Order: sequence, then structure tokens, then C-alpha cells
Amino acid sequence: MIGCDCAICSSENEKDKRLRSSILVKSKNTSLVVDTTPDFRTQMLRENVKKLDAVIFTHPHKDHIAGLDDIKAYNFFQQKPVEVYANTLTEEALLRDFYYIFTEKKYPGIPEINLHLISDKPFMVGDIPVIPILVYHLKMPVLGFRFGKFTYITDANRIEEVEKEKIKGSEILVVNALRKKEHISHFTLHEAIELVEELRIPIAYFTHISHQLGLHDDITNELPANMHLAYDGLQITIPGE
Ligand SMILES: [Zn+2]
Ligand SMILES: [Zn+2]
Repeated sequence: MIGCDCAICSSENEKDKRLRSSILVKSKNTSLVVDTTPDFRTQMLRENVKKLDAVIFTHPHKDHIAGLDDIKAYNFFQQKPVEVYANTLTEEALLRDFYYIFTEKKYPGIPEINLHLISDKPFMVGDIPVIPILVYHLKMPVLGFRFGKFTYITDANRIEEVEKEKIKGSEILVVNALRKKEHISHFTLHEAIELVEELRIPIAYFTHISHQLGLHDDITNELPANMHLAYDGLQITIPGE
């Protein structure tokens, strides 16, 4: 947190240094990111990501879309637009915040994208099948995504029963857990743990963590054995069918 010198913000542990939440999903032929955070450029440089085919957006909050401009490096090296998948709410924000991408006369060097509208229907990105899961961030609809036996959900504090059915059977769930204290639009750590138990998910990682949650090592010691705090740079192999 800018300007904060709490124990977490001044921790020497790399796992306490958190950029904004996003994931990169890779198959044999396809690479996509879920969300382009304000840290997108830093994250892509850190991980030396050379190829990016697509972006899938969860919701239009700035901490999930602000980095879109930087996909232009991929346009340059790949000589093609990046495929972008968003629901109508996020599309509205993209048209407003990145108006220059959508103008008729394009200034050279601006990002090139193909925008695809998505809803709750499954779709393919290259060879990656994607199942959207509708969750709620207070009243805002947000999309979580299931990729085979792996499910990623961020910025939620409520999931309806029918959508929970779509998550069941996942081997690995990544879900947001902001802090211990109640929050208006994010699951608390306790609520996230309850969700993992209710859905009987074998392995879970918590993400979108605030500095208010506590030190990585302290919280790790408090968690059930099958649940972990995610950290920047964490890599997971998605189990096969
Ligand atoms: Zn949000
Ligand atoms: Zn967020």
C-alpha cells in the first residue's frame, strides 16, 4: 500500500510484496491472461512472457483493466490483434476508458484488439475451453473462469447455488480472500475457507489479498493443510482429466 509502513508493507519476505491480481493460463498452443491490472507490464516483464493470444476480463474495476494499453507490445511482435473477451459491463468500461482503441481512424502504435462479448456460456480461446462462472461483488456481476479442473474466482463475496455447481469437481480453486475483517464486496479469509470446504475442493489458494490480512508466513500457519496463500509468481500445473 502506498505510504504504509505496517509490518506487512515493510516485510522483507518477497511473498508479502503483492502486485494486483491476475493469472496467465498456458496450454500447448495458447496463452491468455485473466485481467490486465495496472501491474500487467511489470508482471509480463518479470515472467518474460513472449506470447499472448488473449485477455479475458472478470469485471471493469480499474485494478483489473488498467493495464490493457500495454498489450501493444504483443501486437508488435505477433503482428496480429489480441483477442479480448468481456461481458457487456466490462465492454462499456473498455469503450470509455480506452476510447482511442476503438476510433475509426487509428493512430499508429495503439493497441489492436478483437473484442468478443461473453456471457455465462462456455467458449474456446484457441485450444483452451473456458467456462464462465457468474459471481457477485456486492451487486456487480463478475465472471470467474473454470479451465478444466482449475477454477479462478476474484472479487466476489457471493455465489449462487447454480454457479457453485459449476465449480464443484475442480481439483484446484483460486479464490479471493481480502482480509479477516468483514468487507462489503470481498470474501473474508473465513468466508473463503468455508467456500472451499462447502464445495469440497482438494486444493485452494487465496488471492486478492490486502495488507490487512497479515504476514504470509503467519496466515499460512493458520490455514487448513489443503489451503494456501497465493503469492506473486506462483506456478500451478492444472491436473489432467
Ligand atoms: Zn473489483
Ligand atoms: Zn479487484
